[in-house]
Amino acid sequence: MTRPFPVLADLPPRPAQPCIDRLAAELRQRDPDLVLVGEDQPSELGRLSRDYHSYSPVLVPRFAGQRAQLAVCARRLDQVQLVAGACARAAVPLTLRGAGTGNYGQCVPLAGGVVLDLSGLNRLRCLEAASGVIEVEAGALMAAVERELAPHGRALRLAPSTLRTASIGGFIAGGSGGIGSPRWGFLRDPGNLLGLEVVTVEPEPRLLRLDAVASAPLNHAYGCNGILTALRLPTSEAVDWQQLVVGFNHWTEAVAAMTGLGSTALLLQALCLLETPIAARSPWPAGCPAAGGEHRLLLLAAPDCLEVLPDWLAARGGRVIWQAPQSGSQGLPLRELTWNHTTLHWRAHSPDWTYLQLLLPQPELPVLSSLSQRWKGDLLWHLEAVRQQGSARLAALPLLRWQGEDALQRLIDQLRESGAQIFNPHVITVEDGGMGVVDADQVTAKAAYDPAGLLNPGKLRGWLER
Ligand SMILES: Cc1cc2nc3c(=O)[nH]c(=O)nc-3n(C[C@H](O)[C@H](O)[C@H](O)COP(=O)(O)OP(=O)(O)OC[C@H]3O[C@@H](n4cnc5c(N)ncnc54)[C@H](O)[C@@H]3O)c2cc1C
Repeated sequence: MTRPFPVLADLPPRPAQPCIDRLAAELRQRDPDLVLVGEDQPSELGRLSRDYHSYSPVLVPRFAGQRAQLAVCARRLDQVQLVAGACARAAVPLTLRGAGTGNYGQCVPLAGGVVLDLSGLNRLRCLEAASGVIEVEAGALMAAVERELAPHGRALRLAPSTLRTASIGGFIAGGSGGIGSPRWGFLRDPGNLLGLEVVTVEPEPRLLRLDAVASAPLNHAYGCNGILTALRLPTSEAVDWQQLVVGFNHWTEAVAAMTGLGSTALLLQALCLLETPIAARSPWPAGCPAAGGEHRLLLLAAPDCLEVLPDWLAARGGRVIWQAPQSGSQGLPLRELTWNHTTLHWRAHSPDWTYLQLLLPQPELPVLSSLSQRWKGDLLWHLEAVRQQGSARLAALPLLRWQGEDALQRLIDQLRESGAQIFNPHVITVEDGGMGVVDADQVTAKAAYDPAGLLNPGKLRGWLER
């Protein structure tokens, strides 16, 4: 298997300990309020150097032992500038961290240095009444932002299934889409990010405000080309989403219903299909019966859909098993059975499984059936509805019994041959987890905002190859 990992010789050298000690002393002296975590707190330093890449048996050994030499927790803009300037002057690598829920080791430092935790920078600065546009600090937890928006009748357009635990800056820098993707597509689609406030990594850091066009190269760049301190985002009207679980006895009917929903006028925020074995072993919200051998379609639907959906689904072989409003629900929300939460729950009982991410070719059924036949019970389908360049499409996060890297590559090859587009979660760089090609604008932005290449070394292949 060809794994395009960065060559370590291309990375900045891991700083010597006296250099880190001098940096820590300078930061302490210039701002006694800064929280620093050093080698004297090894478990906390280890925690701040990790994320959720454990889903990938390829990445786990690759990141083993990689950790920061110092973590700094910022709560104010001037503290971010202080850390950026001090790292630039001392040539110390700097890796940014929101909540550390990324799946590809995005915030695991590959060349030691400093991890800057931005979760303390978490204010919703403003909500523009006329447009619903918000300016929010990067470290804010998305669930907290949603809580602040709710009384104004607004909500985030897009969120990962980790809404409760992930930061908005980490989502823009490291995520792609999720809840809301059937309506709003992916984060990088024009219109989903309106502007950024950015701190550069230079001896005298600049604080820049970028418009939507200038922000695009920093969107999904793993924090390699600027420190996001605030984001300007559109919001949507708040909807009292209704959670529905629908059972299907036949896979072909379930997939047909899922694709058919994409061409209705029903307002859906999430649409996820779990093949029988996954449904059978998933936890379900309180009051929802455990799965009994059926495939399960999970929906977040606007209240007015309820007048149409049950009959529409029944005509296509589906029966509503459970229904409850998302608001006020206690315990596990249905959202947390979708996207990579599906993988999380499956791996809780089967840690020898991993996953892939892809966009299915159309029509979807022949590919799904042929791959299921080839891989027997070692490949299980989990589908998510998305909007891709304006069209309703199906993405998939299939679960795969781990049989080694050659088997993983064989599956990737078979999927590519069938026309699927792979977003490989078993690679390190921005490019290889995406379309596989270098985005020259991302590299240009790095040269402008991080000229010494200190931000998250090793994660932007275009910078290493320039
Ligand atoms: C169970 C589970 C389910 C998930 N579901 C989804 C999903 O539905 N959709 C999805 O897209 N992802 C999903 N993810 C991945 C991840 O949760 C999201 O991408 C999340 O938004 C990352 O936010 P974070 O605050 O944890 O970021 P982190 O993990 O802390 O950081 C992610 C990346 O962003 C960079 N970064 C963080 N803050 C900044 C900043 N202020 N400026 C510049 N760079 C920064 C980091 O360096 C890193 O490269 C899931 C993960 C798990 C574990």
